[in-house]
Amino acid sequence: MLVILLLLGYKGAQQIYENTQISLSYENNQAQGETSKEGYQTIEITKDQIYQGNLLLVNKEYPIHEEAVMSDVIHLYQNEELIRGYSLLDTSIQISESVAKAFLDMAQDARKDNVSHFMINSGYRGFDEQNQLYEKMGSDYANPAGFSEHNMGLALDIGSTQMKMENAPEGKWLAKNAWKYGFILRYPADKIAITGTAYEPWHYRYIGLPHSAIIQEYHFTLEEYLDYLKEKKHVSVHVDGETYEISYYPVSQDTTINVPVNRHYISGDNMGGIIVTMYPN
Ligand SMILES: [Zn+2]
Repeated sequence: MLVILLLLGYKGAQQIYENTQISLSYENNQAQGETSKEGYQTIEITKDQIYQGNLLLVNKEYPIHEEAVMSDVIHLYQNEELIRGYSLLDTSIQISESVAKAFLDMAQDARKDNVSHFMINSGYRGFDEQNQLYEKMGSDYANPAGFSEHNMGLALDIGSTQMKMENAPEGKWLAKNAWKYGFILRYPADKIAITGTAYEPWHYRYIGLPHSAIIQEYHFTLEEYLDYLKEKKHVSVHVDGETYEISYYPVSQDTTINVPVNRHYISGDNMGGIIVTMYPN
């Protein structure tokens, strides 16, 4: 068993993330004793679960399936309580409601660090809208429908009302802190060969904790992270004293898994497997 302990000091978000500790341990077997605790259930995994959830890999190689579109997509402009303290490019912007809540938390915490000029430029795009954008702007700017994370409702293009994102305090703050809210910078400047996409300092993808913490710490892309989970099969991660268990399963015809009833999350990887995240008690 390999154990890595990392100490990180984050001066930004004072409350819970000061001296954030992340440690990872890799085990080949499921955590022992877990299944004997009360409140576990056996779940049968179906093939369609490969294609839905927060961790789906969507790129030029892996297009989204219909079931990947988030079921809680809303119009932000019509939800006043979710758009406090930041701007919208226009009134038509849509996004998954759960992602909007995470973004709101993030923007409000950034404000405490005097970073307060966020603007959402793009969120969920339906397939028709994506195709129009692709035809109008070309492949340097947009992917065809089905090949964009925006088609799921899990990606946001975030700008600053003051200046370009690569120079803006908003961009710098996000690069350092977005992981705490479950977001990752999806297309880093030094990972173009892996993502196949140019540096986009504005494009943030929601994947949720603890995954965003691991990606930040190891400077992974989503491509690299999913490969890593597939290889390790089981990872325990400790973030701020809380333990999360992450397991990868290839999905065959009759895959069943044992999970704690109310504290697990299942996401597909869009490639042939699922990732089970077990949350702390
Ligand atoms: Zn984008």
